[in-house]
Amino acid sequence: MATALFDKIIFGPIKSRRLGISLGINLLSPHSKLCNFDCIYCECGWTKNNEHSTEKPHFNDKKDVLISLENFLKERAEKKEPLDVITFAGNGEPTMHPDFEEIINKTIELRNEFFPNVKIAVLSNSTMLGKESVRRALAKVDRAILKIDSAFDKTIAQINEPIGQYSLQNILDNMALFTGEIIIQTMFLRGENKGETIDNTTEKEVSAWIKVLKQVKPTQVMIYSLDRDTPLKTIEKVGKGELNIIAEKVRNAGFECSVA
Ligand code: SF4
Repeated sequence: MATALFDKIIFGPIKSRRLGISLGINLLSPHSKLCNFDCIYCECGWTKNNEHSTEKPHFNDKKDVLISLENFLKERAEKKEPLDVITFAGNGEPTMHPDFEEIINKTIELRNEFFPNVKIAVLSNSTMLGKESVRRALAKVDRAILKIDSAFDKTIAQINEPIGQYSLQNILDNMALFTGEIIIQTMFLRGENKGETIDNTTEKEVSAWIKVLKQVKPTQVMIYSLDRDTPLKTIEKVGKGELNIIAEKVRNAGFECSVA
């Protein structure tokens, strides 16, 4: 499957490996990608010069998002069809949306009205945690799933290619200000980018990353590897056996860990 954009505001529900029956919400335009990372594994393709974008990147209007969500939840509740989780993901970084907190507040109201047992999850690259309203909003959701793919800025530069200033220490300082529960999500992969070897599964990488986990104290850690087509073709999947070995190390350090 080639990389592709999510072409709707509301997508799915899909059966997620990690989350169950998941309804996706895309706060970014269905016709372009908008993110402050340019991950070499992003299923939406590159951020810069995105091959699928047909318009200038922008956010969906909050009214459009909330009307689409309300209509969907209402109809699904009437049909008594199951749902496990409402997941903010899509064509980029959801917490960059200027009305993110307001959208989360309203989503909680809609969830309480139509599916009170359904969880709300946000997949985020952690970069917007410096913004108080983002921390407040993420603290209200059931699953704030925050990406840290390495303990080293150099490796993060290779894997996530942040656009603009980035330092993991800054992310960790902002995580320390966060009052909610954190789930850390990490992609493991290896390969080559711009002539340099990338491998975040080495002993050095994994032990430094576990030190970061001890600092962040997440309630859960989710690790996974490539499953879909990637914009960079010179990277490869890490096998389930290796992921299980990493997961065991995480558990030995005292954290719950799931392998997708
Ligand atoms: S942070 Fe997520 S949306 Fe942004 S480039 Fe990486 S994988 Fe894609």
